[in-house]
Amino acid sequence: MGAGIVGTATSWHLRRRGYAVVLVDPSVASAVPQASNQRCLNGSTASLGVLMGHAFRRSSGRGWRLRQRSMALWPEWVVQLDDPTSPLSLQTPLVQLASSDEDAERMRQLAEARPHAGLRFLDEQTLTPAPHPWPRPGHGALLSERDGRVDPLGLLRALRRAFDTEGGATQATRVEHLQRSDAARGGRWQVITAEGDRFNVDAVVICSALGSSQLLEPLGHHRPMEAVLGQVLDLKLPNPQPGWTGWPAVLTCGGINLIPHGDQQLWLGATVEPGTVADSSLVSAMTTLNNQAPSWLREAERIGQWQGLRARPQGRPAPLLETLEPGLILASGHYRNGVLLAPASAEWVGQQIDASILTGP
Ligand SMILES: Cc1cc2nc3c(=O)[nH]c(=O)nc-3n(C[C@H](O)[C@H](O)[C@H](O)COP(=O)(O)OP(=O)(O)OC[C@H]3O[C@@H](n4cnc5c(N)ncnc54)[C@H](O)[C@@H]3O)c2cc1C
Repeated sequence: MGAGIVGTATSWHLRRRGYAVVLVDPSVASAVPQASNQRCLNGSTASLGVLMGHAFRRSSGRGWRLRQRSMALWPEWVVQLDDPTSPLSLQTPLVQLASSDEDAERMRQLAEARPHAGLRFLDEQTLTPAPHPWPRPGHGALLSERDGRVDPLGLLRALRRAFDTEGGATQATRVEHLQRSDAARGGRWQVITAEGDRFNVDAVVICSALGSSQLLEPLGHHRPMEAVLGQVLDLKLPNPQPGWTGWPAVLTCGGINLIPHGDQQLWLGATVEPGTVADSSLVSAMTTLNNQAPSWLREAERIGQWQGLRARPQGRPAPLLETLEPGLILASGHYRNGVLLAPASAEWVGQQIDASILTGP
């Protein structure tokens, strides 16, 4: 349930493992948009697709393990998903600018501890001058050679195509309820759609982000989530410029990503705003990068803007990966990292289903 990146990735993964999969979401009725240019989107179609796995500060715990696993799977996934009709690539590297001397020291230590992961500290003096100068907080930067981004819309298209090619089925409707069923009816769970249709399945996998809680509540599983809105800008440089020489795929400054695309464009985002109502003053603050925006950036023309909602679990760490009952699997609440964590989440769901098949009804 849910055809965002998490649900579509999971469906493809399960289909490849030989399971009969039906992906249910009203959004599968329409093609994935060519560009994120509408006002309010779900998490996946609004995402920037940044993959920051190796430069993650912690080096233990579930979040760390999921990131590590996803970053190991991403190169294989991209090779398997890339197709002339839905091209996909990993865009690297990622550079994080240090915001203070303390921040720089933490980055330096991280780079020293993980040279094998492609991390390197760049002293301020060694930062390459580019035709479009980077913002320069003045404390150096962390280069992560294997982090970067994947185009989220391209990914969604590639996942849909691959799922379809593998014989996966889709149903363009909303799931209204889930009911426990018995094996005699042909599955543990009954799925009831908005049109009142019912079908029985052995397992349901809930990947419906903010729509997950209301499916679970009637079953006695309280998993509240809050919406956290993100705004993104598409900017065009003031004058024709000589490309993006010297720029990484993603440059991060004070938590804001600068992502060059085309010859003269740049995505800037995203804001982190609890709730569902966008605050326009945060967009202005974002464009100045805390007064560190170079003049070419301040002069750039705003040619596009969109916003989307992230699902943040309340009182529990993101994401929610849980088998709540036999055949009732939750893979949701990925908050700020659903694209990054999609491969590891899909793999985790596959392991849960394999285990439930082994243990039987
Ligand atoms: C502006 C912005 C920037 C972001 N940048 C990044 C980034 O750089 N890197 C990163 O890793 N993450 C990023 N994220 C977060 C990431 O986009 C999300 O974590 C991820 O997209 C969540 O995917 P999802 O499939 O769980 O949910 P969604 O993409 O929200 O999809 C949920 C789907 O469930 C469907 N659904 C809901 N209820 C039902 C129901 N009852 N029946 C059937 N279907 C249902 C909806 O129609 C929807 O299609 C960003 C998010 C935003 C908003």
